[in-house]
Amino acid sequence: MSIAEALHTTNNFPEFTGRLCPAPCEGACVLGINEDPVSIRIIEWNIVDRGFNEGFVTPILPVVQTGKTVAIIGSGPAGLAAAQQLARAGHEVTVFEKSDRIGGLLRYGIPDFKMEKWVIDRRLEQMKAEGVKFQTSVAVGKDITGEQLRRQFDAVGLTMGAEQARELPIPGRELKGVHLAMEYLTQQNKRTAGISFSDEPITAKGKRVVIIGGGDTGSDCLGTAHRQGCVEAHQFELLPEPPPQRADSTPWPLWPMQLRTSGPSSR
Ligand SMILES: Cc1cc2nc3c(=O)[nH]c(=O)nc-3n(C[C@H](O)[C@H](O)[C@H](O)COP(=O)(O)OP(=O)(O)OC[C@H]3O[C@@H](n4cnc5c(N)ncnc54)[C@H](O)[C@@H]3O)c2cc1C
Repeated sequence: MSIAEALHTTNNFPEFTGRLCPAPCEGACVLGINEDPVSIRIIEWNIVDRGFNEGFVTPILPVVQTGKTVAIIGSGPAGLAAAQQLARAGHEVTVFEKSDRIGGLLRYGIPDFKMEKWVIDRRLEQMKAEGVKFQTSVAVGKDITGEQLRRQFDAVGLTMGAEQARELPIPGRELKGVHLAMEYLTQQNKRTAGISFSDEPITAKGKRVVIIGGGDTGSDCLGTAHRQGCVEAHQFELLPEPPPQRADSTPWPLWPMQLRTSGPSSR
């Protein structure tokens, strides 16, 4: 078994996690007690990219076909992983996605500067060759009912993600120019991919920007606003600034609460 094959026994998409995962495994690495932990995330990222480049990542076809059919609703990483495993087990799998492209938040949430979309497309080629079928622009519950799916398929997987923004019901929320992150980030992902959209364009170009929230989504908005050419950006965070090293409240092997900075696709 090649190293790339071994890696894939526990992770369907190490090229996604290698680029995006906050790597709690590194926070729990034993070496991390008194030294820098093993850089598991980057090692996995390099193994999978080299595996693709050198032809080790190929379609894995099932040994037997079960004759069973499965519908997966939602094509984010959860739906894709479920679909791939089920197809490899010999089931006939169809993924239903209400959006026009496959990938969920990988496609339309996470900006290209964190993960370019060819990374998703490369994996989809493998999945199609493994027999997974994809139906885009089909909203289950609207374009096709759950009942119809239950009749057509032996099993149905629900992997629709959260899709719930956290509102901030304060005076001024209704003003022009105040947007939820996903309205903003989805548009920019489409713009980068050359996909048209009908909503009123939102851009930070030439604007002074305030970002409320200092987590990953806020950080993606910050990176996007800078790339769009904002004049200035201010980011507000409710919590106090974490310490530069692991906080006492999160001892090993917990995920360390500490101040982190990141750049584009930081290896
Ligand atoms: C801005 C942003 C940045 C992020 N950055 C990171 C990161 O750097 N690292 C990290 O680990 N995580 C990150 N996350 C979190 C990560 O993207 C999610 O945890 C992950 O995508 C969840 O996967 P999922 O498959 O459950 O759902 P989703 O990715 O949300 O996919 C669900 C899919 O189901 C589809 N769907 C929903 N309802 C229906 C329906 N009725 N019919 C058909 N299709 C339907 C949706 O259109 C969507 O495509 C980020 C999230 C956001 C919003």
